[in-house]
Amino acid sequence: MSVGIVGGGITGLATHHYLRESGVESVVFEADDEPGGVVRSEEVEGRVLDFGPQRTRLTPSIRKLVESLGLESELRRAADPPLYVYRDGKLRLVPQSPREAVTTDLLSWRGKARALLEPLTGPARTGEGGGANGSESDGGSESDDGGESVEEFLTRKFGSEVARYYFGPLYGGLYGSHPDEMPVEYSLSKALEKAGIEGSVLTSVARKVLEGREKPPIVSFDAGLQRLPEALAAAHGGVRLETPVREIRRAGDGFLVETEGDETRVNRLVVTTPADVTADLLADLAPDSAAALRELRYNPQVVVHLLAEADLTGAGYQVQYDEQFRTLGTTWNDSLLDREGVYTCYLGGSRNPELVERSDDELGSLAAAEFEEVTGHEARAISVRRLRRGMPAYDRSWAALDRISMPEGIRLCTNYTARAGLPGRIREAKQTAETLAGAESASHEPPAADA
Ligand SMILES: Cc1cc2nc3c(=O)[nH]c(=O)nc-3n(C[C@H](O)[C@H](O)[C@H](O)COP(=O)(O)OP(=O)(O)OC[C@H]3O[C@@H](n4cnc5c(N)ncnc54)[C@H](O)[C@@H]3O)c2cc1C
Repeated sequence: MSVGIVGGGITGLATHHYLRESGVESVVFEADDEPGGVVRSEEVEGRVLDFGPQRTRLTPSIRKLVESLGLESELRRAADPPLYVYRDGKLRLVPQSPREAVTTDLLSWRGKARALLEPLTGPARTGEGGGANGSESDGGSESDDGGESVEEFLTRKFGSEVARYYFGPLYGGLYGSHPDEMPVEYSLSKALEKAGIEGSVLTSVARKVLEGREKPPIVSFDAGLQRLPEALAAAHGGVRLETPVREIRRAGDGFLVETEGDETRVNRLVVTTPADVTADLLADLAPDSAAALRELRYNPQVVVHLLAEADLTGAGYQVQYDEQFRTLGTTWNDSLLDREGVYTCYLGGSRNPELVERSDDELGSLAAAEFEEVTGHEARAISVRRLRRGMPAYDRSWAALDRISMPEGIRLCTNYTARAGLPGRIREAKQTAETLAGAESASHEPPAADA
C-alpha cells in the first residue's frame, strides 16, 4: 500500500513519520518551500521568533518523537509560569492552584463562591433538544438552534464571573472567537470529553490535584518550534516541498494525485490542508462534503513581535473580550522561553477581522501602544505577520461538520475536524497511521481456514 499525504504541516509530517515507522510507504505533498505549515520560526534581529504556536506541552507522544529525532538537547523547557487576564485596567492572576483561586483578584468572593456550585449543574446542552439535563439557568438564554454557546455553558455551570473573566477569555482567546459565538457541542464539550472530563469539571480537576497528576512541561526548541516539523521532514525521504496538489482523481481502487507537471498514484489519501483547500481538492469526489467544508470559518489574526525591556515574569496574558482592545493576548517569550526582550501579540480574531488589511506600520504601532497600556512598558515592533486562516474559529459555522463524510480511501486528519493543539495533532496523526497500517497488515493475512 502507498499513502499520499496532502499537506506538510505538523499533522501531515507526523502521519508520514508514524506510517514509515510501521513500514507503510507514504509520500507528503507540501505546497510551501518549507515544512511546518502554521508552525513557523525565523530569526529577526538576532531573536528567534515563532509566527504560529509559541510552545507546546511535552506530552508522552511528543517526548517520544523528540527522542527518536534526537532533539532532546535542543529542547527549551518552561515551568508552569503565572498567566494573567487583563480586565478593568489591571493584569489579574489566573488561578492555577486552589491557593491562587482563593487569593486572585480576577474574581470577587461572590464569583468564587458561585463557581463552587458547579458540581450541582448538568452537562452541556446540545442542539438535539438537550436541556433536559441542565439543573439551573444563570442568565444567558440558549441560542436559536437549541444548543448552548460556550459562554452560556460556562455561565450556567460556574456563574457569569468565571465565564466572562476566567474560562471565557482563556478558551475563546485561543481561537480568536468570542465564547458567545462558539457552540459548546462543537468546541469545548469535545475538548472536555478528550480530557476525560465527563461530569463535573471541578470534581475532575480536584481529583487530578489530589492524585498529584502533573501536566507535561511547556517546551519549545532553541531554534523555535519549527525545528520539530523540520526534523520530521529531514528524517524520512518522500517529503516533496513546493509541490501543491492541484487535483485528486479516482483511479481504480486508488487515486491519482495531480501536481505541477506530474501525477502520483496512491492507494490511500490523508488530507491535512485547510478547509477551503480541502474543499477545492474534493469538489468532484465528494461535492456535498466540499460545500460543507467551504462553510467553516477561520478567524484572521495578526501576529506582532515586540521588543521591550519589560522584564515581566509569566507566560503572558489574555485580554478580557469586553475591553476596548484589538489585542487578543500576548505571550511573554522573554520570561517563558528565555527569548531576550521578545513579546508576541495576537490581534484581530472574530471581532476585528478587518485588522489584517492594515499596514505593517499601523499594526506594529497598535500592538506596541496596547502593550504599553496593559504593562506600562514601551515596546518596538520587529515583525508583523498576517494569518488569514490560521486558527479554526469553532463558531456556529462548525454545524457544517455534521454534513462532512469522506469517500472510501480518503481520511481527513485536520485541526478543524479534531483538536487544534500540537499534542492533539500528533495524537490524531498517530491514530491515523495506526489505522492505515492495521488495514494494510490485515490485507496480507492469509484467509481463515474455514473461510
Ligand atoms: C496563531 C496560532 C497560534 C497557535 N498556538 C498554539 C500553541 O501555542 N500551542 C499549540 O499546541 N497549538 C497552537 N496552535 C495550533 C497548531 O499550531 C495548529 O493547529 C497546527 O499547527 C496545525 O497543523 P496542521 O498540519 O494540521 O495544519 P497546517 O499547519 O495548516 O498545515 C497544512 C499544510 O498544507 C499545506 N497546503 C496547503 N495547500 C496545499 C496544497 N494544495 N497541496 C499541498 N499542500 C498544501 C500548507 O502549506 C500547510 O503546510 C496555534 C495555531 C495558530 C494559527
